[in-house]
Amino acid sequence: MKTIEATNFIEQIINEDIENGKIEAVQTRFPPEPNGYLHIGHIKSMLVNFGTAKKYGGKCNLFFDDTNPSKEKTEFVDAIRRDIQWVGYEWEKEVYASDFFETIYEYAEKLITDGKAFVCDLSPEEISATRGTLTEEGKESPYRNRSVAENLQLFREMRAGKYADGRKCLRAKIDMSSPNMNMRDPVIYRILRCTHHRTGDTWCIYPMYDYAHPICDYLQGVTHSLCTLEFEDHRPLYDWVGIQLGFAPKPRQIEFARLAVTNTVMSKRYLKKLVEEGHVHGWDDPRMPTVAGLRNRGVPPEALLDFCTKIGIVKANSECQLSYLEACIRDNLNENAERAMAVLEPLKVTITNYDGEEMLETAIHPLKPELGTREIAFSGTVYIDRADFSLDPPPKYQRLKEGGYVRLKNAYIIQCDEVVKDENGEVVELKCSYLPNSRSSNDTSGVKVKGTIQWVDAKTGVDAEIRRYSYLLKDAEYAGQDFGERMNLDSEHIFHGKAEPYLAESDDGKQFQLMRVGYYKKCQSENGGLVLSEIVSLKDNFNK
Ligand code: ATP
Ligand code: MG
Repeated sequence: MKTIEATNFIEQIINEDIENGKIEAVQTRFPPEPNGYLHIGHIKSMLVNFGTAKKYGGKCNLFFDDTNPSKEKTEFVDAIRRDIQWVGYEWEKEVYASDFFETIYEYAEKLITDGKAFVCDLSPEEISATRGTLTEEGKESPYRNRSVAENLQLFREMRAGKYADGRKCLRAKIDMSSPNMNMRDPVIYRILRCTHHRTGDTWCIYPMYDYAHPICDYLQGVTHSLCTLEFEDHRPLYDWVGIQLGFAPKPRQIEFARLAVTNTVMSKRYLKKLVEEGHVHGWDDPRMPTVAGLRNRGVPPEALLDFCTKIGIVKANSECQLSYLEACIRDNLNENAERAMAVLEPLKVTITNYDGEEMLETAIHPLKPELGTREIAFSGTVYIDRADFSLDPPPKYQRLKEGGYVRLKNAYIIQCDEVVKDENGEVVELKCSYLPNSRSSNDTSGVKVKGTIQWVDAKTGVDAEIRRYSYLLKDAEYAGQDFGERMNLDSEHIFHGKAEPYLAESDDGKQFQLMRVGYYKKCQSENGGLVLSEIVSLKDNFNK
C-alpha cells in the first residue's frame, strides 16, 4: 500500500505506519451509539472515518456501539443508516458491539484468570466515593484480592442472574494511584436488567464502553480508531485492554477535535430535549442541526462535506462560525439552484397603461446559459414585495417610491403614479405606468434605473406559505448559559406570499434561489398548498 500526500496529522500518522510496515491496509469504523439522530458533528466524524479509509483505498465499517440498552433503539439504528447513505458514504460491513457480546464476555474471563480483573461488591456510589480526585489517590476496594476461582464463580453467577442490578460489578485491576482517573480499577461489566434492542433478554450484564470498544475494534481488524478529543484520557485504558488480551496488531487510537458551531446545539441529549419539549416539530425540523433536519431543510450533502473539509481535521478544539457553514451552502446553491420569483408580503401593482398579456423569457440559471430559458407570464397586474415600496424613502432610495422608477426583473421599467390607501391609511395598491420600450431583453427607453425588484404576475401567480428561520440558539453573549436560557423561542416566521406557478409545478424538495429573497426548498403543506421553506438567506441583494 502506498502513502498519500498528507493533508492532516492523522494522514501523517497513517503514512508513518505504512512506511514502517505496521499496516497492510487501512481499516476504520464510524462508531455511533444508536441513542439518537446524527448531527452535523457526526458528518465530520464520517469524513474522518469514511473519508480517510477511502483516500488510502481502505475500508470503513459502520459500527453500532450498542452497549447501553436503556437508551438505544432500532428507530435510531434505521435513522443512522439512512443519514449516512444520504451523506453519500458506503460502509464495508455493518457491525454491532452486541454481535461480540459472547467474545467480550470470554475476554473478561481471561482477564480474571490472568489476575487482571475482580468482582467488586461496592455500590456505584461507593466506587465513585473511593475513586479519589485529581490531587488525591483512590482507595483500593476491599474485594480487590479475591482469588481467581472466587472471581470466576461470582462473574459466572452475575451472568446467570443471581444478583440484583448494581449489587456487583467486574472491575479491571490496574492502579488506584494512577494520575489518570480512568485507570483506577475501572468498572468493565455491570449488572443491568434491560431488554436490548437486538439481544433481547439474553444478557443481564453488559460491558462498559471503554472495555468493549478496543475489543470490537480489534475483532473488526481496525487499524486506526479515530475518535474525538474527549477520549484522549481514555487511550491508556484502550491500550491496556489491548495489551492484556494480547491483541496483535493492536488498533491505534487517534483523537481529533470535535466540531463545534456557534448558535448550534450539538449534544444528542439536548437535541432530544428540544424535540420532547416541543420547541421544534421533530428530529427533522429544518432548524435542527441533525442530518435529518439539514436534509429536510434542503441543504445539499456536498455543501456539508465541503464545510467539514474546509474547516479541516486538527488536534485542538475550537468553535466555528455558523456563518461559515452558511457560506458553504450558499456557494453550492448559487452554482446549482434554479432562479425563480416570489414575494413575501404581496403589494398589488396595477399597470394602468398595459393592455393584454405576454410571455417573457427568463434565464433558468444566469450563470449557466447552457440551461436555456423559460417563460413567465406577464399581465397588467403584478405583486411586488411591500418592503420594496416606501412612502417615506431615505435619500438615494433605489426601490419604488411615489413618482419614482424601478425595473421589474426580466420585464419592464415602471413608474409609480398613484398610491391607493385604505381607510386606515395603509397602502393597499400602487397605480403605475410602464415604459413600453423598456423590456429587459430589448430596452431602448434610454431610461436608467438603479433598482430592480422581483414580482409575481397576479393572474397566474399562486399563494405560497413562505417559511423563514432564525437560529434556535441566541448569540454568543449568552454563551456559558444553559441551553434552556439561550433558546430563541421565535425562530420560525411564516409569510403568506405569492409565487410564480413554476414553483408550484416543480418537484418537491427542489432547491431554488428566490431572487432577492433567499435560497428555498419547494415543498407542500398537508392540504397540498405550495410551501417555500428557507434553506439559507442571500448574502447580496440586487440593491445593497
Ligand atoms: P453526542 O455527544 O452528541 O451524543 P456522541 O459523541 O455521544 O455525540 P456518538 O454516537 O458516540 O455520539 O458518536 C459517534 C462518533 O461521532 C464518535 O466517534 C464521536 O467522537 C463522533 N462525534 C460526535 N460528535 C462529534 C462532533 N461534534 N464532531 C466530530 N465528531 C463527533
Ligand atoms: Mg458518545
